[in-house]
Amino acid sequence: MTDFADREGVIWLDGAMVPWRDAKTHFLTHSLHYASAVFEGVRAYNGRIFKLRQHTDRLFEGAGIVGMKMPFTRDVIDAACQAVLAANHLEDGYLRPAVWRGSEVMGLSPRGTAVHVAIAAWSWPSYFSVEQRMTGVRLIEAPWRRPAPDTAPTQAKASGLYQICTLSKQYAEDRGYDDALMLDYRGLVAEATGANIFLVIDGKLHTPTPDCFLNGITRQTAIEIAEQTGIDIVERHITPEDLALADEVFLTGTAAEITPVSEIGPHRFTPGPVCHLMIKEYTRITTGGAA
Ligand code: PMP
Repeated sequence: MTDFADREGVIWLDGAMVPWRDAKTHFLTHSLHYASAVFEGVRAYNGRIFKLRQHTDRLFEGAGIVGMKMPFTRDVIDAACQAVLAANHLEDGYLRPAVWRGSEVMGLSPRGTAVHVAIAAWSWPSYFSVEQRMTGVRLIEAPWRRPAPDTAPTQAKASGLYQICTLSKQYAEDRGYDDALMLDYRGLVAEATGANIFLVIDGKLHTPTPDCFLNGITRQTAIEIAEQTGIDIVERHITPEDLALADEVFLTGTAAEITPVSEIGPHRFTPGPVCHLMIKEYTRITTGGAA
């Protein structure tokens, strides 16, 4: 695996394309010390960026929540995403826009720091066929909980919030699991470390109310698919005990797409017709079909 700092290609940095290896920031960057950053994860399929404006909107809203004024317009960021994809000769790829405070001032106060924006893109095709994905991933309960909305900027895709995600992911991987299920501050089922969760109970699709974590763009697409295919959707508070009632479970996220789950702690699930339909429809929509 090549180091992400040492690759061919170009990165859009503060308004200009720069060689990949030159897209650097200083050690005294405010964001490195105080997590003053927001980012996005976006995917392109067949040269088309899926729900780009929604991702750009979330980036701007997130920047606003953490008090950073975007130095570019949404149109400029959208165009830059397209340009980065084209300049790196990518048809299917993952884009990573990020916004952060620079090294102009050091100390807790963000006053006087410049807001920087960069966008990278790299090849990241769907690794598995539908059949391979249908085996499902194994989750363990995370040792960390999603914080209450008044203790962290839970509706922003803010870098600081990812500390508990990387710790939980590491905890899971150290124990031989693929990912971790995070409960929230109330002990309710929230999400995985980088993806939302859905449960199939008695043929209906249940998903936690996103009141302290991201209402993911893939989550919203999965709800649209359910509505269009006649599957009832129930958005509600879900307890860990409810997991015992589920026949199928799957995760949704830009990177994860639709990923069936086979195991969470003591519970076992068999990815079945709903997972299959979701993967097929999501693939159809992302690769060009109408939502
Ligand atoms: N929750 C977390 C913590 C995430 O990192 C992601 C990925 N952005 C999601 C949910 C799913 O969001 P989306 O479907 O918009 O990628």
